[in-house]
Amino acid sequence: MNQALQTLHSVFGYETFRPPQESIIRTVIEGGDALVLMPTGGGKSLCYQVPALVRPGCGVVISPLIALMQDQVSALRQLGVRASFLNSTLDAASTREVESQLLAGELDLLYIAPERLTRERCLSLLEQSAISLFAIDEAHCVSQWGHDFRADYLQLSLLHTRFPGIPRIALTATADARTRLEIIERLDLGNARQFIAGFDRPNIRYRIALKHNPRQQLLRFLRDEHVGDAGIIYCMSRRKTEDIATWLGEQGLDALPYHAGLDAATRASHQARFLREEGVIMVATIAFGMGIDKPDVRFVAHLDMPKTVESYYQETGRAGRDGLAANAWMIYGLQDVIKLRQMMAASAGSEEHKRAEQHRLNAMLGLCEITSCRRQALLNYFGDQLDQPCGNCDSCLEPADTWDGTEAARMALSAVYRTGQRFGVNHLIEVLRGSEADKVMQFDHHLLPTFGVGTQWDNNQWRSVFRQLVARGLLSVDLDRFGALRLEEKCRPLLRGEEQIELRRDQPRQKTARQQTRTALPADIDVGLWEALRERRRLLAEEQGVPPYVIFHDRTLQEMCCQLPRNRAELGHINGVGERKLEKYGAQFLQVIEQHAAVR
Ligand code: ADP
Ligand code: ZN
Repeated sequence: MNQALQTLHSVFGYETFRPPQESIIRTVIEGGDALVLMPTGGGKSLCYQVPALVRPGCGVVISPLIALMQDQVSALRQLGVRASFLNSTLDAASTREVESQLLAGELDLLYIAPERLTRERCLSLLEQSAISLFAIDEAHCVSQWGHDFRADYLQLSLLHTRFPGIPRIALTATADARTRLEIIERLDLGNARQFIAGFDRPNIRYRIALKHNPRQQLLRFLRDEHVGDAGIIYCMSRRKTEDIATWLGEQGLDALPYHAGLDAATRASHQARFLREEGVIMVATIAFGMGIDKPDVRFVAHLDMPKTVESYYQETGRAGRDGLAANAWMIYGLQDVIKLRQMMAASAGSEEHKRAEQHRLNAMLGLCEITSCRRQALLNYFGDQLDQPCGNCDSCLEPADTWDGTEAARMALSAVYRTGQRFGVNHLIEVLRGSEADKVMQFDHHLLPTFGVGTQWDNNQWRSVFRQLVARGLLSVDLDRFGALRLEEKCRPLLRGEEQIELRRDQPRQKTARQQTRTALPADIDVGLWEALRERRRLLAEEQGVPPYVIFHDRTLQEMCCQLPRNRAELGHINGVGERKLEKYGAQFLQVIEQHAAVR
């Protein structure tokens, strides 16, 4: 273990292991198997990188993310680690070179795509080489239920049979129990020790608001809080990602679309720009993101509601992996729910499967509508506990107002009932507000007792009432009739006068003085020095064709700004400055700091 700590200091430049890392690393170094569940940004990579460096032989990392292998390998080489990869992007000559390095024991870490690994040629190559461990990254890809399923992963249980003495470590950020069981079963990990880290991501601020003017809301969020920051904006449809990216471009922002319908070259080039440049915004469908380990994604915005809390958590988890403040921002409306329900109803799949999906969608909706701490609700969903409200979500920071919505809710339910459960929200509101619109007259709805009883609330307030009744399962959306609302069993006690209901008061549109939350920079930092350090980093990154964070993370540069190291020894104490980087870049960064001090 001493050797592990020594490696952590000298290679990675970090002081201490995070709590779960230490026991995971000990297990693997001692030759045991491990299953690691850790949230994105938790520090999974070190769990296999350190043991691979400490144990004799080369560590083999199986990863489905071919497009990212090059960057992962470059980052390791920056640290002085002898890393390489084998996948379909290499030509025959380079492949042979990597293979002979492996045979000669000249590699510390080798990344391999699963479809390559399971070929006989590759297996026998591995049998002839000294292997320290197998790391199976993104292990949830064996799950046939998940949307990341890879058939090649199913064959990975052969590692156990072919290489019985070599420790295996499977890693994933997907939390749920069912996926975990599938991983254990399909990868033959029955004897592995399980490490389940807490799922909290305290540096991410969760905010969920109502959609009223999505583009303007988004633009405001970006201009107020994320000037020059890199981030991801998720949309439900391909078309929308393109529209939004174009529109943001017209507003002067550096935004690119990404979805599975773009050709491979465009996708690759957009992804490369996002990774390599600073401040690029990716407007994407869920096709984008798995394995993107860009540490300085400062925000994840959702313009449409994800289908499940799992997806929401996985997508928002891509923000702030460096541990610095980041925003998870979402807007949603009743239309999202109607659209998602329609998509589900139209999908193939058994009734049981559809019911399960419906259930998960309701949980997501519940998260949107709650008035208590969002983080407590999120963690609770994953079976984790947070005893106190978090203080870093919108519910905690700007507590939502509630009001006694009993009377309004009864009126709304009664309007649904009396119009025959065949009409959508807009029509129902017209009836409640006593509008003499054509359609109201046509169906004689002006003759109903509920006609015009609800004039004290305006259209928006009524929409909010209906949305919350749907979210809480008192009303359902009828899919055979576009958007028609129907009563659910659950609304009876309220209709019979046996129950009261508290509703969330939606925030007024013109928000009062909003607090400025430039997320990334602490208030007391010297911005001039910060910019100068970033500029130096950018030049170095460009020279070597690597993303800037591969040189140093934002966090490391911020520590330099705070501690103002004057010499190599002081610089070496900063988090993220290992021996190799100290040697390679130390002088250059010290020079920037010194020059800056001189002109101040
Ligand atoms: P994951 O793969 O779990 O999403 P990473 O392995 O990419 O996470 O690690 C997330 C971030 O945390 C990286 O920037 C990494 O350098 C940093 N990190 C990991 N372990 C430590 C540690 N013990 N001390 C300081 N920083 C760490
Ligand atoms: Zn909170």
